[in-house]
Amino acid sequence: MSVELLGFHIDNYTFEEAVIKAKSLIDGDKVTQVVTINPEMFEAAEKDPTFSGIIRDAEMVIPDGVGVKLALKLTGKDAARIPGVDFAKRLLKESALSNIPVAIIGSKEEVVTKAVENLKKEISGLNIVYFHNGYFDNDEEIYNELKQRSPKLILVALGSPRQEKFIYAAKSKLNPALMIGIGGSLDVWSGSVKRAPKIFQKLGLEWLYRTACQPSRFKRIFPTLPLFLIRVLSYKDKI
Ligand code: UDP
Repeated sequence: MSVELLGFHIDNYTFEEAVIKAKSLIDGDKVTQVVTINPEMFEAAEKDPTFSGIIRDAEMVIPDGVGVKLALKLTGKDAARIPGVDFAKRLLKESALSNIPVAIIGSKEEVVTKAVENLKKEISGLNIVYFHNGYFDNDEEIYNELKQRSPKLILVALGSPRQEKFIYAAKSKLNPALMIGIGGSLDVWSGSVKRAPKIFQKLGLEWLYRTACQPSRFKRIFPTLPLFLIRVLSYKDKI
């Protein structure tokens, strides 16, 4: 099941359905990619054909954030919002239950180290076979190290679209695995960035809370969000 937005297919799964689908990809026989898409990524894809091709080729595209949900509503569609940070955490828990080897790549050295430490404490049986910070120049070295350890679930936090491009290139290089771009999740898991209180999360207003705490985010969200919504509405008019 999927819905279309600006010419892209977005999966219309419930959280639990998305977990089931991801588990089947983890057990699959090739490298597969989950994109957790937000308005900034739609805007970046508009200007970057390589990036838009990667989104089109992804095995799963899930709506992360209230902006995409709002855009779907405006065009008479709907899809459940699946926050990437929660989805990735759940996949780590599922992996621990089946002793699936996991790798985590991204963020500053102290952030990824602390995140790994916290995750191991929280999730018993979590089998992290490899982790690396996200500030490297030689991608091939990282692919080689991943190939040696053969993780089946690989979380990549390099910021977008760098993480999606890193994952896409891995498709022809690594042993079968599910790879997912997780943006700022390691910052959350390390404790460097606090998540909004549950009530904000429930209402889909986590972005508002985070922007209030960190006003520099305004520059990033605006004018992207209004431009994205205008493009969504005019796209609808064309078809
Ligand atoms: N990051 C990284 N390498 C880079 C750029 C960013 O590892 O070259 C990390 C950064 O430390 C942060 C995460 O990627 O933990 C997400 O970065 P950002 O918030 O800029 O991206 P977004 O979440 O907006 O995609």
